[in-house]
Amino acid sequence: MYDIIIVGGGPAGLTASIYALRAKKSVLLIEKFSPGGQVVQTGKIENYPGFKSIEGAELSRLMFEQASDLGLEVVYSDILNYDITGKIKKVKTYEGEFEAKTIILALGAVARQLDVENEKKFVGKGISYCATCDGNFFKDKVVAVVGGGNTSFEDCLYLSDIVKKIYLIHRRDEFRGDAHTLEKLKTLALNGKIEFVLNSVVKELKGEEKLNSILVENKISKEVREIKVDGLFVAIGRQPDTALLKDILTLDKNGYIITDENMCTNVDGVYAIGDVREKRLRQIVTACSDGAIASVDIIDYISKNF
Ligand code: NAP
Repeated sequence: MYDIIIVGGGPAGLTASIYALRAKKSVLLIEKFSPGGQVVQTGKIENYPGFKSIEGAELSRLMFEQASDLGLEVVYSDILNYDITGKIKKVKTYEGEFEAKTIILALGAVARQLDVENEKKFVGKGISYCATCDGNFFKDKVVAVVGGGNTSFEDCLYLSDIVKKIYLIHRRDEFRGDAHTLEKLKTLALNGKIEFVLNSVVKELKGEEKLNSILVENKISKEVREIKVDGLFVAIGRQPDTALLKDILTLDKNGYIITDENMCTNVDGVYAIGDVREKRLRQIVTACSDGAIASVDIIDYISKNF
């Protein structure tokens, strides 16, 4: 039995593991894909203190290396079932069942879908939810990015070095993304690399085998415009993957796990950290902070309860 099972190997989970391993706790990390979480798919990161600019994949690699050097054990699998209301926490995976005194849920969040007909049909055939993963398939092509937050901004910046033209489609005329990056996009718009399509939503996806064009409706004028595109990058936020936990933990109306300031959920010995937690600011630095806080509380919890 482990002291801690951490589910999810993004910055939150890796930081929690570093703090726990340094306190000589045994830790098993269960990760679905590759360690690093969403950060692996992020291009340049310029707001993580200590690095003026670093690639997401490199920052993830460094965090994982640090945890591995401390003795982190990793199992790569999805979770099939959580049995975590008792004193001993059990999780079932494709690689078997594992037990621990405590569990940290660092599940992150998955890309939100547009919810337009044929969206699933065109995934991998024009539609992508990850510009850094798929951008290179669209060299010198015309693409659209949907969204108005920092992810859509970063997608545009990343794609601007690869594609011929980008339509940035946003449902309002004010953006959520930061002003500094917006200035960079405006400069690209002056050169015709980016065209802002504001107050607009994607209504229809057209194409036979592959996506050819999109119908975009202006929400104010109701005018519908057909835009020929080879690719459509959906960057409209993320949502937590907490379906398996909804009858166990207290979630907010959007499915995020509610914790106290020590990252404790409503179940003793169960913690939630990073983007899966209900909170205001979802950044790498806040994910790391959550991880450190949870592990410090767990060290105390284990000494009092075991
Ligand atoms: P976000 O900030 O939640 O923005 C999502 C955007 O998509 C919003 O502009 C929203 O429009 C729009 N949207 C939501 N649902 C939509 C729908 N069904 N149809 C059309 N548009 C829709 O998500 P995000 O950009 O992925 O960022 C998530 C978090 O990560 C944020 O806290 C962000 O700051 C952070 N982040 C930080 C960095 C960085 O600092 N380097 C990079 C990437 C992300 P409305 O504005 O109208 O709601």
